[in-house]
Amino acid sequence: MSAAPTLPHPRTGAGFPSPVPPAAGWPGDPAGPATPVARSAADVVRLAGGCADLAALDAASSVCRACPRLVAWREDVAVVKRRAFADQPYWGRPAPGFGDPHARLLVVGLAPAAHGANRTGRLFTGDRSGDWIVAALHRAGLASRPETVDAADGLVLTGARMVAAVRCAPPGNAPLPAERDACNGWLRREVQLMPAVRAVLALGAFGWGAFLGAARGFGWTVPSPAPRFGHGAQVTLIRPDGVPVQLVGSYHVSQQNTQTGRLTEAMLDGAIAAAVAAARTP
Ligand code: SF4
Repeated sequence: MSAAPTLPHPRTGAGFPSPVPPAAGWPGDPAGPATPVARSAADVVRLAGGCADLAALDAASSVCRACPRLVAWREDVAVVKRRAFADQPYWGRPAPGFGDPHARLLVVGLAPAAHGANRTGRLFTGDRSGDWIVAALHRAGLASRPETVDAADGLVLTGARMVAAVRCAPPGNAPLPAERDACNGWLRREVQLMPAVRAVLALGAFGWGAFLGAARGFGWTVPSPAPRFGHGAQVTLIRPDGVPVQLVGSYHVSQQNTQTGRLTEAMLDGAIAAAVAAARTP
């Protein structure tokens, strides 16, 4: 059998097949050759529960195969590619969380973009949505640089971490409820492993709902009826130990919103400022 064809990484020049196997040397790849692979929602819960820290969670979630439809889609996109990126390898795997493991602010997005994070291997990297949120985090003093290009560009987040409610690129940016619920196992563990978080910025109604589901899943007090998403909406969630965590809503940084003016830079900056203020609350 002949080896899978490789293409050079656009920054490092190292060759990779698409999708990228674990431990092949991709910049920032958290997985090793023995990282266990989840193949069902029950596996996600079991493996996530066994992760002692975010590094282990990043690794395990980056090789997850629990949702057959999304695994097939992400890998097919990685092989077919978009014409503009036809000369690049595609990550083609789940995008784990990215940023400061001790952050007080957690940003929750929807899912990786097919030709963004599914190509670069880093959340909110390689597409216009990433450009928007990283530039805004930079203006807020939370990102080391104003743009995001690839997983080897040196971007560092301080005081903030980003996660996706669903870690695989979905067709039409529309995960199924069962896929959202399966991936919630990773999200719940991610939050458990970030005890310093005091504010969550939900980008879009999907991230808002997914985070509320996660919060209920680990026993936080969530107002009933469920608070409705809106740009600038806020709700206080209470952890079992009494610590409040502020959930702040922002329209998603999708091109559909940013190109139509539904979400402006000023609006995004305002939502981030509200979340940062809440995150600084003792
Ligand atoms: S969406 Fe989440 S649970 Fe489903 S395969 Fe991807 S990483 Fe695993």
